[in-house]
Amino acid sequence: MAKKSYKRKLGLNQKIDHSIDFLQRACVGHMAQVNFSGGKDSCVLKDISIKAGINATFVFCNTTNEAPELIKFIREYHKDVKWVRPEKPLIKAIIDKNILPTRIARWCCRTHKKNPLIKAGYKIDIVGVRGEESNKRKLGRMIGIRGGKKTGRILLSPIFNWNTADIWEYIDKFKIPYCSLYDEPNFERIGCVVCPLRSWNVQKFWIKRYPKIFRAFEKAVCKHFAKKPEYFKSRGCPNGHILFYRWLRGEKLLGEPNPTSGMLI
Ligand code: SF4
Repeated sequence: MAKKSYKRKLGLNQKIDHSIDFLQRACVGHMAQVNFSGGKDSCVLKDISIKAGINATFVFCNTTNEAPELIKFIREYHKDVKWVRPEKPLIKAIIDKNILPTRIARWCCRTHKKNPLIKAGYKIDIVGVRGEESNKRKLGRMIGIRGGKKTGRILLSPIFNWNTADIWEYIDKFKIPYCSLYDEPNFERIGCVVCPLRSWNVQKFWIKRYPKIFRAFEKAVCKHFAKKPEYFKSRGCPNGHILFYRWLRGEKLLGEPNPTSGMLI
């Protein structure tokens, strides 16, 4: 623990050296996959991986729920990235599966993010996870196993000890291009456009920014509602539109067992 805190206190140059050294040692003799989302951390991760000179392929998973600016940015600045996709668009998956992803049961993170990347099939996965991002992530480490021991896949997080200020300092120092959305107020973090994990305060800005995409998801949730209207009505949700907004706000329905779980539907 003391060692981890020590690394978080290093200056940027030391962190860069440490991340590069870590990658070079961990990847020696292996082909690696650098998971690239197009966000600021990914841009730094990709640049660090190039500087480390490792044998890597950069892979972007288009969740089908991405901001148009992000897609444009990747097409323009990261032509060397290989694209993968989930089996079907998230909207269609919600309708077919007939279950909404929630803060606890976030199945789309697996089907629409992790699985397509795992299918790309390299032994070493390199990701831009940082300990600072959440309490759960703080408990992580720079090296781990991807998807259980049976997979034999190694997960590396070379920028695990970097903080947000380090990321921006690096971008500034090396003139790394980044997605224009970051320059807009309230878009400190970029991810899926319609996502039930976001706080309502932040969600409001995304709804305002991407009304068409939210409307398309609203239609999907209305179809979901139409498959079992009596069930939702008996839980205090009279129609699909209200279900949609309650889903986005992470509100539970009447009679649900776990008050912290969001909507288990
Ligand atoms: S970030 Fe949100 S919308 Fe995107 S895959 Fe994960 S839970 Fe689903």
